[in-house]
Amino acid sequence: MNTLYDVAVVGAGASGLLCALECARGGKRVLVLEKDPLPARKILVSGNGRCNLTNRHVSPAAYHADPNLIESALAHFSFENCRHYFENLGVLLTEQEQGRIFPATGKATAVADSLKAALKETGAELLCGYEVTHIQRTKTDFVVSTQQGPTVHARNVVLACGSCAYPQVTGTNAGYELARQLGHTVLPPRPVLSGLCLKETALARLSGVKCQVRTTAHTTPAAHAEGELIFTNYGVNGPAALNISQAVSRALASGPVKVEINFLPQLENPGDFLQARLTRLGTRKPKDFFAGLIHESLANLLIDFTGLRKQIPTQEQNMQRAFQTLTAWPVTVTALRPWKEAMVAAGGVKTREINYNTFESLLCPGLYITGELLDVDGKSGGFNLHFAWASGFAAAQAIKEK
Ligand SMILES: Cc1cc2nc3c(=O)[nH]c(=O)nc-3n(C[C@H](O)[C@H](O)[C@H](O)COP(=O)(O)OP(=O)(O)OC[C@H]3O[C@@H](n4cnc5c(N)ncnc54)[C@H](O)[C@@H]3O)c2cc1C
Repeated sequence: MNTLYDVAVVGAGASGLLCALECARGGKRVLVLEKDPLPARKILVSGNGRCNLTNRHVSPAAYHADPNLIESALAHFSFENCRHYFENLGVLLTEQEQGRIFPATGKATAVADSLKAALKETGAELLCGYEVTHIQRTKTDFVVSTQQGPTVHARNVVLACGSCAYPQVTGTNAGYELARQLGHTVLPPRPVLSGLCLKETALARLSGVKCQVRTTAHTTPAAHAEGELIFTNYGVNGPAALNISQAVSRALASGPVKVEINFLPQLENPGDFLQARLTRLGTRKPKDFFAGLIHESLANLLIDFTGLRKQIPTQEQNMQRAFQTLTAWPVTVTALRPWKEAMVAAGGVKTREINYNTFESLLCPGLYITGELLDVDGKSGGFNLHFAWASGFAAAQAIKEK
């Protein structure tokens, strides 16, 4: 370990591996230090083991972050760049609904193994089982100390430690601590892309039911999401819950958050639709009136919730009330599910303290900070991995030019 490396990358996750690969391809002497016995573990669990690695619709609107930072990252590594990059690594890709991109094998190993193989081909060194505990900036270089003993010298350091989300798979506070040691501000991390706990315990009756919905969180500004909602014993999960979780998480600091669920998002004019249905099926009992329109368990709950008696034929006034509920069902979020269920952390290293073009620290020259360690979080759908790749790529470009 007496070598002076051009680059020491801390963390062999998405951002660190891609950054290391690019630096090594650019002729730099690279060492990657990973605390876990294995690299790329979060890539392997991503997308339910299928790795939703990017999204055709990647844009600043998909992130909670300064849009200028995301613009800059995407200027270095756009959706097309990302697609070509992984295809050139040998990963055949497939596109699924809403622009989500997966490896065609349906396995995250396709992404992780291709990155690892390409890194190996460059001659870069990857040391697993070494946790970086301290980094010191000297006049000439960085001294990187590990818990296991060895100390490394490097001209540049890339902090790609990820966030504290999902601690059972590498999530840690270590990166925040290292960034603080080097003078950076860390905005308190909060779990996001996590299920929503609801006050209305009656909804647990729907546990296991999946519906296509539109959700609206009464936050400032209001947050909307459309897609699948999965009912659970604690509340709701699925993209329509996850994609309002960032806004809800912030608003929860001031108390419980009201959310409306529209169970009929496909209807442009629910009033007209109801009138037409009443004309055709108005003589049915309420339960039969809703058959074929919504899930049976939801229909039963709606009938109880709105006080419709099951045995009488439908009455227009009652049905209007029921329909209003179906298109704006009120629920109250009391909390987000804990870190071990959160896919991503909001908060992290303050982005104003890095150069948006190079991801180099404005406080500590030669230090680069990339990926989820930064105060950037994206919607579900491949956006978080895209930012990890893009920021790692941008940092590598800057290091290569040195
Ligand atoms: C269950 C789950 C599913 C997900 N699915 C998707 C998905 O399908 N699409 C998507 O876009 N995003 C998904 N994400 C989010 C995505 O995985 C992360 O945003 C992304 O991996 C962040 O990349 P990163 O390189 O910043 O950090 P990571 O990939 O987390 O890598 C950080 C690495 O640094 C190491 N490390 C940390 N501290 C130290 C230290 N002190 N010394 C040495 N090593 C250290 C860690 O062990 C880890 O290996 C998912 C997340 C989870 C938890």
